[in-house]
Amino acid sequence: MKKLLLIFLENLFANSQLNRLPESYGGGRIFSNPIIGISKGDDPVFDKFKEVAAPRHMTPAEMWLASRLPEETNLPSKLRIISIVCPFTSEIREESMKAKVMPAEIYCIGRNYANAFKIDVMKQVIRFFQQKDFLATAGMLSEAFDIYSGFLSTWSERHIAFAAGLGTFSLHEGFISELGCNIRLCSVITNAPLEVTPRKSNDPYSNCLYYAKGTCRKCEEKCPAKAISENGHDKLKCWTYGRKVEAEMNALLGSILKPHWRRVRGEVREQKPPVGCAFCQYGVPCMDKNPMAYEK
Ligand code: SF4
Ligand code: SF4
Repeated sequence: MKKLLLIFLENLFANSQLNRLPESYGGGRIFSNPIIGISKGDDPVFDKFKEVAAPRHMTPAEMWLASRLPEETNLPSKLRIISIVCPFTSEIREESMKAKVMPAEIYCIGRNYANAFKIDVMKQVIRFFQQKDFLATAGMLSEAFDIYSGFLSTWSERHIAFAAGLGTFSLHEGFISELGCNIRLCSVITNAPLEVTPRKSNDPYSNCLYYAKGTCRKCEEKCPAKAISENGHDKLKCWTYGRKVEAEMNALLGSILKPHWRRVRGEVREQKPPVGCAFCQYGVPCMDKNPMAYEK
């Protein structure tokens, strides 16, 4: 069924109008083909996320029940969590590498349009399982998803991707998959008995050249906000620069951007359309690959 799911996703990514830039920006794809990884609901790593990600981060079984899906004996062991890596296209990456002070318009639009596409991907994957008589839900779409205390949330797609063996964290606090860090992530929980993807390493930073070998730090050079240093990523500096980018690019791109809603502290709020920043992801060794796969 994993193979069928991947074919389903490849068709969706190829044919969905939601995965397209507007015609005035060439009408090309936002994301190239995805990869997926699958974790099991009773993996002890999900309990660990309450310590390392956020105290209110939910296990897949907690999210399942919060989404009003049925309890059953040994529920965690019956759940599978599919994490989906959506890589930005080389067209968007090439334009973004030329940007200097503000990100490339094509990236800002792609990053903004990506939200509606990701929501559709999760809904369609849920339907894929329902049509095969299984149940499914998505943490990001659940009423139990919440952002609280500034940067903490009840469901972190990067942590879900780590659990699913898709890659690791990094100096710039992105997620380095085999298709690089210039990606977006989404996930679906199901009771379909899919084969689990083994993690290559339990080291949460093993794909980053800095943490693995003490080299690189190219993301630090690229960040205009000086939000990255040998001590890691400063969320507040990054957030502050992100608001500057958002104000300027929203003024420039205006109505071409799609509106955006998010659940924050229990309330669904309309937010200024997000447009990203991501200078730290472009023109760096981890942009489009796992750089450690090329190290001896
Ligand atoms: S640019 Fe280098 S140091 Fe920064 S996250 Fe990527 S691999 Fe790690
Ligand atoms: S997103 Fe922008 S501000 Fe934040 S770390 Fe990356 S380059 Fe710096």
